[in-house]
Amino acid sequence: MQTQQSYKENDKGTLYLVPTPIGNLDDMTFRAIQTLKDVDLIACEDTRVTQKLLNHFEIDTQKTSYHEHNVNEKTRELIRDLLEGKNIAQVSDAGMPSISDPGVELVKAAIEHQIPVVPLPGPNAAVTALIASGISPQPFTFYGFLSRKKSELTEELDTLKDKEETLVFYESPYRLAKMLKSLADVFGEDRQVVLAREVTKRYEEFVRGTATEVSVWADETELKGEFVVIVSGNDNIVEETLWENWTILEHIEYKMNFEKMSSKQAIKEVAKDRGLPKREVYAEYHQ
Ligand code: SAM
Repeated sequence: MQTQQSYKENDKGTLYLVPTPIGNLDDMTFRAIQTLKDVDLIACEDTRVTQKLLNHFEIDTQKTSYHEHNVNEKTRELIRDLLEGKNIAQVSDAGMPSISDPGVELVKAAIEHQIPVVPLPGPNAAVTALIASGISPQPFTFYGFLSRKKSELTEELDTLKDKEETLVFYESPYRLAKMLKSLADVFGEDRQVVLAREVTKRYEEFVRGTATEVSVWADETELKGEFVVIVSGNDNIVEETLWENWTILEHIEYKMNFEKMSSKQAIKEVAKDRGLPKREVYAEYHQ
């Protein structure tokens, strides 16, 4: 067990996690600007991208790069600096560090070394898109990027198709049409989907419809910009598996009494639901 009192005097430095705009520079918070000015060093995913932000807000703090290809050596170096008392801010190119972006290794290492990790609130594409989607915002699962390989993508979607909570994905415009086709195949044509495109930017757009409708839209549209894909949870699941703890007879009676089926129809449906031969269900009913 470990406790962290973020603002207690301490001879180590602090690791600040600073979100940056996902398109609109006005979304930079006062605290984020001040933190980037105050720290000794900014660890950036791409120093050129962050430099533009720093220029805009007249911040001249020293920078260093921290990205997926130098994580191990850079984590060690940054931890050394933090242990020596330097305050460090970590930023990614856009949005929240660590959310489908570099950062988590540094956070874990800082925690191991009892270095305070202070998160700042701020821009994030997933949650920003979610609140305007019109799809139930909780519970939700943030999934990030699905696999690029078709077979793995289908497998991943298959493990997600019965989830009852809202699902939030990131996807590149180059793979979006394919992803939506697989989604309609695996989740069913009628699943509600919202595409949130270029959120906070000039061409912000929301496309809301069934999996098939948005898939057709994606096929017919020149896809440009960045997308969040929000998918409603599976609300048929309760009905589909309700019978799991029932006897065959209870299952048939449910179909007859609540779904107003004839006994013949109910026997057929129950056999289908349970993957049993019809004669077995028939025998159980007429016992
Ligand atoms: N760390 C970022 C965050 O907190 O949202 C996410 C970085 S991830 C590498 C980039 C992906 O986020 C894009 O491919 C897209 O799916 C999504 N994204 C980022 N900015 C977006 C925006 N303005 N509108 C829609 N989606 C965006």
